[in-house]
Amino acid sequence: MLNSENPTPEPALSENLANRIPSPQADLSGQLVFLGTGTSVGVPVIGCDCPTCTSDNPRNQRTRCSLVFGLPDGNLLVDTTPDLRTQLLRERIGIIHATLFTHEHADHVFGLDDLRIFPHYLGHSMPIYCEDHVEARIRKSFDYAFTDEAKAYAGGVPQVAFHRIGLEPFSALGQQIVPLRLWHGKFRVLGFRFGNVAYCTDTNRIPDESRRLLEGLDVLILDALRPRPHATHFSLDEAVAVAQSLKPKRTLFTHMSHEIEHAWANENLPSGMELAYDGLRLEWSP
Ligand SMILES: [Zn+2]
Ligand SMILES: [Zn+2]
Ligand SMILES: [Zn+2]
Repeated sequence: MLNSENPTPEPALSENLANRIPSPQADLSGQLVFLGTGTSVGVPVIGCDCPTCTSDNPRNQRTRCSLVFGLPDGNLLVDTTPDLRTQLLRERIGIIHATLFTHEHADHVFGLDDLRIFPHYLGHSMPIYCEDHVEARIRKSFDYAFTDEAKAYAGGVPQVAFHRIGLEPFSALGQQIVPLRLWHGKFRVLGFRFGNVAYCTDTNRIPDESRRLLEGLDVLILDALRPRPHATHFSLDEAVAVAQSLKPKRTLFTHMSHEIEHAWANENLPSGMELAYDGLRLEWSP
């Protein structure tokens, strides 16, 4: 059985990459990069000819929802979307040092196989920070990486080391991270606070104990699916109301569907609130 806690990268590939240090693309310290800002089906939607999906504005092209934080000791990826490889190539991010999960839905997990390359650069398996039910989903969905069958792939499976998290603050890559419970319909999701920046995607309810952890923010990144209400996501109006009550200096909305046309919606937001877009970078001090 492959030991997921201490795997050895496949030798031939490691030798090929031995001189390939991805440092020129690697230093993101003090930056936050939006890899994707779209809802689960992405924007454009396959087969849709609505104004957003046929728009020439690149800000109406949204891959699945994810971020990279440049932390003091490396690059932290939040969620592994089905678009992960494309996102990292587009942003010229050559290395990820650890991965954190908000929850276990397919649009946040199903690019995990694209993490395979990084143990060859890191010299060890990819640290994964997630809740127990997210680990269970990953072990089930990527079972080939965790069974005797893994040997047959000669190292061509994701090599990961799980770090269980809950609601206690923890440290990763030299940064204290504060998890907070969010509700996403009936699903449990974690939001995260990194210093004065918080990331709260896939939610339509923030309980009071979590709201207390979202006071005094410089930047709030918040789910805003579409203008109409939805059973598991904040609508744009609901998200605006949450931002108005939490009073961060700046709010950026994410996880948007094609019902939100970038230019029109952005112009009509209250001051201090904007739509995020794929490729947006923020300066950020841990
Ligand atoms: Zn989602
Ligand atoms: Zn559309
Ligand atoms: Zn979700």
